Amino acid sequence: MTVTAEREKALLESVPKGLLIDGEWREASSDTTFDVKDPATGEVLASLQDGGSDDAMAAFDAACAAQKDWARTPAKERADILRRAYDMINERAEDFALLMTLEMGKPLAEARGEVTYGNGFLRWFSEEAVRHYGRTVNGPEGTLRMQVNHKPVGPCLLITPWNFPLAMATRKVGPAVAAGCTMVLKAAKLTPLTTQLFAQVMQEAGLPKGVLNVVSGSSASAISGPILEDPRLRKVSFTGSTPVGVKLMQDAAKNVLRTSMELGGNAPLIVFEDADLDAAVEGAFAAKMRNMGEACTAANRFLVHEDVAEEFTKKFVARLEALKPLRGTDPDSTLGPIVDEGARDDIHALVTEAVEAGGEVLTGGDKVEGPGYFYQPTALKVDKDNPILKQEIFGPVAPIVTFSTEEEAIEMANDTEYGLASYIFSKDYTRMYRVSEQIEFGLVGYNAGVISNPAAPFGGVKQSGLGREGGAEGIEEYTTVQYIGIADP
Ligand code: NAD
Repeated sequence: MTVTAEREKALLESVPKGLLIDGEWREASSDTTFDVKDPATGEVLASLQDGGSDDAMAAFDAACAAQKDWARTPAKERADILRRAYDMINERAEDFALLMTLEMGKPLAEARGEVTYGNGFLRWFSEEAVRHYGRTVNGPEGTLRMQVNHKPVGPCLLITPWNFPLAMATRKVGPAVAAGCTMVLKAAKLTPLTTQLFAQVMQEAGLPKGVLNVVSGSSASAISGPILEDPRLRKVSFTGSTPVGVKLMQDAAKNVLRTSMELGGNAPLIVFEDADLDAAVEGAFAAKMRNMGEACTAANRFLVHEDVAEEFTKKFVARLEALKPLRGTDPDSTLGPIVDEGARDDIHALVTEAVEAGGEVLTGGDKVEGPGYFYQPTALKVDKDNPILKQEIFGPVAPIVTFSTEEEAIEMANDTEYGLASYIFSKDYTRMYRVSEQIEFGLVGYNAGVISNPAAPFGGVKQSGLGREGGAEGIEEYTTVQYIGIADP
């Protein structure tokens, strides 16, 4: 069913436009606003209060003031709030999906998938909140009983990117709430609307004032800078690009902060000669084209065995050519726009450079003419040394390169400074274990192109970051360990 203009307008009007500070939606102290645009049309969707340094500090003061009581709130109460928010987001799933489509561009069907996935973190961490056990043991010498307790790490700064507006927020807020931390959340300026609605739901679900504060604004560093300087801050959790992550780690070092860094990726997708090729094409398609390729887990390098490269490529290209780049609200849309013009220019520059270096365009290779920032689904045949294999593409562009031996594939897969996602397609389980042991990535998809799940630890190695979100590991990022040595009676 097509979404009407009235429905879009009503939803956009219902989203809070202020800064959430100490339980109230406030105006920015600068008295200015910034615009959020629809990447499918370039038109303004809404204007939000433009938070700056003073607002950030007011939000952080509120978080610090709320920390003591929140840490003492029983885990079950924290869990109940998360569970209520989960139910409320499920009830409003269509609103969340449409909002993400409007501000970020992804087709509605994909946005609905993100609601399911992103909201799953609230449910998961509502369950984890009450099962984050410590331990008591008798000391080896028999003179001490050793009690190990988990405590909330303290006030947190959470910074999210634009590509998964709901999931990137729930992945941080869920475990922080579960662990008993208070926080200031800063969403990306391109996609703050989903975060605003999410924060409103969290308030309605009963989160006490000051636990979650949200400050959006046109200058990221104006918001994060003064908070990072403040010695009361205990943790920064960031999802975004590696250069910004490195800068934040440098800032965090001054106050010896706990950090979680979910950074860039350059995922290899390896298709071995013994793979089920139809399954490999489907997995490759999902790993590349989901979210228009704007995912840190997106397959970025397609390493295909020379014996099956021709057949794989033919089928894969046919899948790309069937995509329909349309505004995400159109029921026929299967590929949304790139998030903004600059990001689309960056993608095109990478493709142009790849072609200049000898790459062959198999399909696509250019911007889609007309309104919005659409890019053609693109496949390129490239050599091992093509520069496009070195960088995160963040768009619907698939460079395909061949290999002849397993050793060569492993070497090519590891030839990157990143280490987030990787994918292996083969019918041989022993090969899956052998290759997984030798490739340096935090995530391995085996005969699967999409593996992110709230119940699984998500995160990378090397320049892809530190820490894990989701799984049993996710809550650990927001807790600290205290050991009490008790004299044996
Ligand atoms: P980005 O680094 O430009 O921005 C991410 C967030 O950081 C935004 O909220 C932005 O406003 C903020 N930011 C930017 N400069 C800042 C500064 N100096 N100080 C404080 N905050 C600052 O990244 P992006 O373009 O929004 O997102 C794309 C990147 O995110 C890609 O590299 C992608 O791989 C990565 N990403 C990683 C994961 C993961 O889990 N590993 C998930 C999604 C996206």
